[in-house]
Amino acid sequence: MEYVGERLYSRCPVPIQNVIMSAYGWKLRRERFGQGFDRASELLDRSQWLSLEELEAYQEERLRLVVRHAYETVPYYRDLMSGLKLVPGDITRLSDLPKLPVLTRADVDRSIEQLVSDAAPRKSLKKTHSAGTTGSSLYMYWDREIGYMNNACLWRERNWAGVEFGEPIATCLGRPVVPLDQKGPPYWRHNRPWNYLMLSPLHMTDESAPLYIEAMREVGVVALDAHPTAAYVLARFMEERDEYLPLRCVFTTSEPLLDVEREVIEERFQCRVFDGYSQSERVMYSSECDRHTGHHLYMEFGITELLDDDGDPVPDGTVGRVVATGLHNFGMPLIRYEVGDTASMAGTDCPCGRKLPLMRDVAMRAEDILVTPDGRLVPPLMVARAFKLLPGIVRSQIVQHDPAEITTRLVVKQPLAAHDEDDLRRNIAERLGPDVRVAIEYVDDIPLVGRGKYRRVISTVPLVWGKTTTANLYQEGGGGEVGVESTEESEEERAGASRASS
Ligand SMILES: [Zn+2]
Repeated sequence: MEYVGERLYSRCPVPIQNVIMSAYGWKLRRERFGQGFDRASELLDRSQWLSLEELEAYQEERLRLVVRHAYETVPYYRDLMSGLKLVPGDITRLSDLPKLPVLTRADVDRSIEQLVSDAAPRKSLKKTHSAGTTGSSLYMYWDREIGYMNNACLWRERNWAGVEFGEPIATCLGRPVVPLDQKGPPYWRHNRPWNYLMLSPLHMTDESAPLYIEAMREVGVVALDAHPTAAYVLARFMEERDEYLPLRCVFTTSEPLLDVEREVIEERFQCRVFDGYSQSERVMYSSECDRHTGHHLYMEFGITELLDDDGDPVPDGTVGRVVATGLHNFGMPLIRYEVGDTASMAGTDCPCGRKLPLMRDVAMRAEDILVTPDGRLVPPLMVARAFKLLPGIVRSQIVQHDPAEITTRLVVKQPLAAHDEDDLRRNIAERLGPDVRVAIEYVDDIPLVGRGKYRRVISTVPLVWGKTTTANLYQEGGGGEVGVESTEESEEERAGASRASS
């Protein structure tokens, strides 16, 4: 649903909202399953057991297709390669990739329409938003094939944890499925075609958390798929009541997963956490297998390079900038795209036997949980998303020192128009409530902290869990070590209909 659709939705009675959710679920099911999905799934089933050499051969085969397609049908790459006096025959091996420059987010922002393939009818492409690590906002286009491939990756990720399509799953991801002005249960909606119980990320309090847990128990969900902070908040409230809800697994995505979060979630849901990572640019995908030795990099999905500041590859064990080439989105191919995250590689030696390389230390963003005057604990991503429809923002940061006040710091190309400022305030109010004042502050820069980590959401407001109070996530322990980290966009796919709003 687009912006206006979301407003209409919020005015419908609950049963109608359930019908809308399921109708959208059917639409997405038609778009993401079918022959294309089956093909991609068969490939991924087989390829996960290939040797590293075979996987690289597959990547090179796809790379040749992508480069030729880009040269022949994408104005940006035609110009770029002509300027560099390159033809597709010059880029046939992985080792040829450095002949092309790194594509930055700013490059994409400047040339977005030139990056779309002439061969792809616009009608066939899905336009989506990328909010990016540093809070800037971009459009992306996906073709049908990348929709199938991404969905196939999602289900491989889930199969690794023993979950099959059709089994009941609870989600608590990026969209406000329950309007904020709804003051009582149910704090969830049903998406029947995907068998999802969609939990509201905006209504979690000491009083409502047991209702969430009860609803999950009643439906008999086998897994929870959530932002790490959302899963953590539910688990932490259970800890307060000394409750447990045994599940088969918990999937996390889209935010940094801290060690403390993993620990509490695993304890209270009595299962392992499977963390995953992807982004709306659709250039890389990774997830944990059942041995939890790091994230397996899905080599079939994209080619990932880790580079130092001079643009040279870093050795295993050293953190580098993530630059990735998508192998399946022919509608808008991105070659050597700088994702904005850092990570390190840790070889291919996982006891599961798969040779898909292990990625660790994926990090850059640090985000706290937001607290509202009425005591709700809100995942940071919910508010970071308030920016996603506003163009011209280079960087943004949300700062909260008091539950009743939010300051949004913006680095912009030019100050926002008055109606965009109003939109931003309204978007935030829709997530945090009308009692929260929103100040907008234009700044020249927002510096990185620690090892180049970007603090997109800072809250110094303590977290109250029933009778216990703790400091917010990144205050305790001076910024908590970021474990494997995710950007938000994988939820676009995994949410199925939980993303009626994309
Ligand atoms: Zn493994």
